[in-house]
Amino acid sequence: MTPALHVHQLSKTFGSGDLAVHAVRTVDLDVDAGEVVLIMGPSGSGKTTLLLMLGAMLRPTSGAIEVADLDIATAPERDLPRLRAKHFGFIFQDFNLLGALDAAENVQLAANLGGVTGTRARSRAAGLLEQVGLAHRAHHRPDQLSGGEKQRVAIARALANDPILILADEPTANLDSSIGRDIARLLRRLA
Ligand code: ADP
Ligand code: MG
Repeated sequence: MTPALHVHQLSKTFGSGDLAVHAVRTVDLDVDAGEVVLIMGPSGSGKTTLLLMLGAMLRPTSGAIEVADLDIATAPERDLPRLRAKHFGFIFQDFNLLGALDAAENVQLAANLGGVTGTRARSRAAGLLEQVGLAHRAHHRPDQLSGGEKQRVAIARALANDPILILADEPTANLDSSIGRDIARLLRRLA
């Protein structure tokens, strides 16, 4: 079986000459469907740079990234927004929810970007919020939610288009440890 994600000799260098920073150097990585991979390393070791490249948000200096038989390292710029919306779910340390929208609307908007609109988007958002245990908070805005609840909304949003890959950058760093463990458990269950 081909892996869901195939990364070959992936590198990213910021700057050049004496100031060059080799943030990611010749990484090889295969990830299968349903697999959970944790990437560990000290601050500055290139974790965020790697995730941004895997999610087609940052162009590699060299190497290949294949997702669903597509090389996203070299895909034309104009195709990237659609690829991001359809194939990837992103979860950030600081949640990145839209403050003017309630939980359900945050999830619906992601579905809209993936081409699902109207009643279908609304019922999908409701189903996903239920899946992450937040049906009762669907019409709360982010400032009315706890950190753990916000991250659950972000997880529901990441799932909005049934992505091949969920990329999470230190998703529990801003949560206290027992809530962080709940979030990690939820992510494993969803995978
Ligand atoms: P981590 O997420 O593991 O803390 P990063 O991927 O953020 O590490 O950073 C890896 C290295 O790349 C660091 O030395 C950082 O300073 C450098 N770096 C990250 N982004 C940029 C950028 N846009 N321009 C220049 N250097 C960068
Ligand atoms: Mg980082």
